[in-house]
Amino acid sequence: MTDCLFCKIASGAIPSKPAYSDDEVYAFHDIAPKAPTHILVIPRRHIPKLADAGPDDRELVGEVVARAAAIARELGLDHYRLVANNGEGAGQTVFHLHFHLLGGRPLSWPPG
Ligand code: 5GP
Ligand code: ZN
Repeated sequence: MTDCLFCKIASGAIPSKPAYSDDEVYAFHDIAPKAPTHILVIPRRHIPKLADAGPDDRELVGEVVARAAAIARELGLDHYRLVANNGEGAGQTVFHLHFHLLGGRPLSWPPG
């Protein structure tokens, strides 16, 4: 998906500040952080949104979520939130599946 911002970020065509990288998963710091820690964790494979993840993507989505937890652990976050905005109505603006890892401050509930 050559026209996708996060595919370009994952491939290195657009620079980002990495937090984690392997063959399947990439994590990088959000360009407009909403918390002291705001990392985006993505599969390298282009999946537009969580609702588009099919049976073949189950393992990969699990890898992404588990990696987010591992990053949070390594950063020593004692509390954090992992969010996937699914669809425009939920605030999704980039249509390549990503989980926001937010931490480093109190997080109120519910989100808007
Ligand atoms: P969404 O609104 O789709 O859930 O989240 C997209 C996120 O991507 C936003 O938090 C936004 O700040 C971030 N973002 C948009 N463009 C870029 C970029 O070019 N680089 C980085 N690192 N983050 C971006
Ligand atoms: Zn993509």
